[in-house]
Amino acid sequence: MRVLVTGGSGYIGSHTVYELIRDGHQVFILDNLSTGNKEGAHKDAILYKGDQQDSELLDKIFKENNIDTVIHCSAKLIVPESVEKPITYFENNVHGVAILLEAMKRHNVKNIVFSSTAAVYGEPKNIPIMEDDYKEPINPYGASKLSCEWLIKAAANAHGMNYVIFRYFNVAGADASGEIGQSTKGRKLTHLIPVVIEAALGLRDKMSIFGDDYDTKDGTCVRDYIHVTDLAKAHVLGAKHTFKNKSGTFNLGSKNGYSVKEIVSETERVLGIKVPHDIVKRRDGDPSTLVASNDKAAKILGFKIENNLEKIIKSDYEWRRNKKF
Ligand code: UDP
Repeated sequence: MRVLVTGGSGYIGSHTVYELIRDGHQVFILDNLSTGNKEGAHKDAILYKGDQQDSELLDKIFKENNIDTVIHCSAKLIVPESVEKPITYFENNVHGVAILLEAMKRHNVKNIVFSSTAAVYGEPKNIPIMEDDYKEPINPYGASKLSCEWLIKAAANAHGMNYVIFRYFNVAGADASGEIGQSTKGRKLTHLIPVVIEAALGLRDKMSIFGDDYDTKDGTCVRDYIHVTDLAKAHVLGAKHTFKNKSGTFNLGSKNGYSVKEIVSETERVLGIKVPHDIVKRRDGDPSTLVASNDKAAKILGFKIENNLEKIIKSDYEWRRNKKF
């Protein structure tokens, strides 16, 4: 396949590029390097530095490279930020998809793999969550991604495209090579596992648990953590699915739920280091429990979980101890 990965220098994008190259595909990256890193771009991929919403640049990339599949990973994805800046989130995420689909249509590019999120489900009615369960996002991030999903399905239907939509649960960990991982690039990390690892490493004084009064096993929120390499490999499977003129929407999670407190204690156990922490009030926009059924991805795409929570914690720890960027 000849694949364009938008956001291919970012966290999930860079791991996806590595897996595509390991599987023997030709890869092109479009990234404005605002949150991605130049060093995150695989040396065998061709990097176009620019904005995903730049139609002229998309025309140039599609024209020059005979792309057959787009994996669209560039997006704004921080829940609390989306609560503060909903217009920015819709503008970037939904308008960004519209521009991309329009360019794909102009160049007859038929296949798209899209990064969506568990946040489309809102506060789920059933656990584990199935793909056709009720969706009522409780934050602007989830709402913007659900809008993108609807747009992609409608465009695919109208213009004969194939799509695979992946709803990510909580992605963490780093590539086993040690070359890439989740980078800070001068920003404060907000996702739980890197925050816990930073506290374990003494890179921050402590971490805060956001609320212990949820209706869960220990009062803290429960999430389904998936290793970024397992997720990246799913993208290769997803791209191949579209290449066979097939479409579908799939959860990508592990079926296992861990509470915030369990992540802290499991990190302490795996690393043998204390994680200094306190408990503060709830964060806006957090559903209490998100755990995926991944049966559909397993059955239709052949998706497998190869890395457990221990591997997630260890690989993020190794990356953060010897960070390349
Ligand atoms: N969380 C926390 N402290 C932190 C970061 C996250 O207690 O410093 C909690 C957060 O409230 C949520 C869970 O950890 O319940 C996962 O949050 P994260 O931001 O990693 O991912 P999200 O589920 O929001 O996509």
